[in-house]
Amino acid sequence: MPYDPHLVPDVIKLDANENPFDFPPEVKQFIREHLQPEHFNRYPDPTARELRGGLSQFTGVPADGIMVGNGSDELILNLMLTFGTGKEVLIVSPTFSMYRIHAQIAGARWREVPRGKNFELNTASLIESSAGQDVSMIFVCSPNNPTGNAVPPDHIEELLANTSALVVVDEAYIEFGGESCTRLLSFYPNLILLRTFSKAFGLAGLRVGYLLARPEVVAELMRVKQPYNLNAFSQITARAALQYRDSFLRQVELIKRNRDVLIRGMESISGVRVFPTATNFILFHTPLDGARVFTGLLENGVLIRNVSGPALENCLRVSVGTEKENSTFLEKLKMLLKV
Ligand SMILES: *Cc1c(COP(=O)(O)O)cnc(C)c1O
Repeated sequence: MPYDPHLVPDVIKLDANENPFDFPPEVKQFIREHLQPEHFNRYPDPTARELRGGLSQFTGVPADGIMVGNGSDELILNLMLTFGTGKEVLIVSPTFSMYRIHAQIAGARWREVPRGKNFELNTASLIESSAGQDVSMIFVCSPNNPTGNAVPPDHIEELLANTSALVVVDEAYIEFGGESCTRLLSFYPNLILLRTFSKAFGLAGLRVGYLLARPEVVAELMRVKQPYNLNAFSQITARAALQYRDSFLRQVELIKRNRDVLIRGMESISGVRVFPTATNFILFHTPLDGARVFTGLLENGVLIRNVSGPALENCLRVSVGTEKENSTFLEKLKMLLKV
């Protein structure tokens, strides 16, 4: 099934885990100062040298181990095209649907390896499943979308040490919680990390993701990358976001505080079970059918995500919005579950 981005006008949008706040004014100012006429009529820097330099400072990873993409979605596709075609990839499920979709586009076979009862990584079964020569990559999302929990780095390390496959850890939500695996890059040449500016840094509309790996891995990926994949405006804006990261990290703190208020509100509704989260979204279970809750909320002007499926029966995912959006969501959910 193709990815359905659920575009609905005039609703409270709590379905895509975006940052709900406006861009900080100092960041807008930086963009105005750095945007030049040549950013319109000339092609952008295909190596994104300045942005990668900024990312190198931010992450501590050398610039030749960094690649930027048109969202991390593009990087997932490039990973599949470079290492997955004709091979098998393992996807630790339930998780983000783009791994499966891009595997399919790239002609990779994919197999889901389920998480445990509390959505923990099943390291032993992953090691066993990846033993064959044919498995080229393992996709682990941490903190995981949509379950919200993070994998401790020592579990990832156990996997890295016991497989010859590349292990891709998607850290799209790492600014909100969980511990990053960046320090493992010095020890394990088969580790690849994915990050994005779409969530904590509020840049979902401009499509900027990045990948951290060993230079040899990045060199392989460069053979597949479109030369002008990241436009000039997005490169400048991502540099601005890095320069003013403290402004975004303040927003992250506010989102986390609002999340904790939202969790307490949801837990007070009888029948609702909230799963622990290290992210800016919340997975929850209701006694009603997931599709019915989803539609009921949408009819009341609130869009969330129905993620019901294997291991997630009648589960939905709500993104943390502004205080006002969160309280509208709570009010509508309460109303729906009362009848
Ligand atoms: C949102 C999200 C991304 C971000 O994708 P972009 O293409 O960078 O916007 C990547 N991985 C996961 C798990 C996500 O939830």
